[in-house]
Amino acid sequence: MISRINIQTDSDLNWHDTPGIEEVFVSRSGDKHDVEIPVCVITGREPGPTFTIMSGMHAGEYAGILAAHRIIKTINPDELLGRLIVIPVISKRAFYNRSMQLSPADEKEIHFVKPGNPKGTYSDALIDTLFQIVKSSDYLIDMHSGEMVQALYPWVPVPMIGSKEIQEATLALAKGYKVDFLEYRYEIEAIPPLCLALFEAGIINIWVEIGKNGLPSERDISAHHDGLVAALKTVGMLQGDPDRPKQKMLTGKRHQINASESGIWYPKITEGQIVEKGELLGITTDIFGNFLEEYRARTRSFVLYYWTSPAINIERKPHGYDWHSGLVSLLELEED
Ligand SMILES: [Zn+2]
Repeated sequence: MISRINIQTDSDLNWHDTPGIEEVFVSRSGDKHDVEIPVCVITGREPGPTFTIMSGMHAGEYAGILAAHRIIKTINPDELLGRLIVIPVISKRAFYNRSMQLSPADEKEIHFVKPGNPKGTYSDALIDTLFQIVKSSDYLIDMHSGEMVQALYPWVPVPMIGSKEIQEATLALAKGYKVDFLEYRYEIEAIPPLCLALFEAGIINIWVEIGKNGLPSERDISAHHDGLVAALKTVGMLQGDPDRPKQKMLTGKRHQINASESGIWYPKITEGQIVEKGELLGITTDIFGNFLEEYRARTRSFVLYYWTSPAINIERKPHGYDWHSGLVSLLELEED
């Protein structure tokens, strides 16, 4: 049976201590917004760390959501030490709207929303409620993919902040993913505010980018799932040696290319490609197909993702967020 817990204040959530699986909706009725988050809590046979796995922050990134289901179906509480909190879909409202990237309620990008403002907009209330659910965690992995209009090459960005011990523990969560690349991020500005807020609360956390164009392919679901299992083994919550697949480190400066005029986008690259300095990335046309502008790489770069939607709108910038004019996200490689 699925139960409901309503939280009103900054109260701790109390989960069952007996081994087993609980499925609950944690809801909060605000002055303006009602939010409700599905939570599966798997309590293991022995005490141990608390680990949160979450997905569906961006509602069209489906591979992570289905990997969360696989975790719920396959983790046996009798084989688990500690507690696993699985949130398959952070915003049901965005998910059932088939929204992309921005919240359908207030057009906020919730990766950039910090907890602490439950009386703000819908996204503020949602993130604060999410924080109440996860705040007792020692570890957290947030699963992302390319959105429905985003062709993305799988990689794991690793926030390298805090003490050496924290950095090592953070990196250890990423080491079990079957991705070609890890990207170390040392600069605070390169880390989403929600991720930083989790670190401030003492939660070792990473977010993972596996999957493209919203497609929940078996390969991407497995890569998410197997990486999670490796992370649970790494922190001792599951028995066995964690996978340590071959990975390379990506270093370079992130550079996003945005359109300077609205129009129709014709990309000429693919995700995972290395483009040389001056190489053509794509062109835009007007709505009749007449050439508007060409976009070229300013240095030798790795294509992390590009937008596959032809519709480019530079006017649409909710809360200053320029997602609708984005063309290509590059990692500028150092010249060797
Ligand atoms: Zn995402």
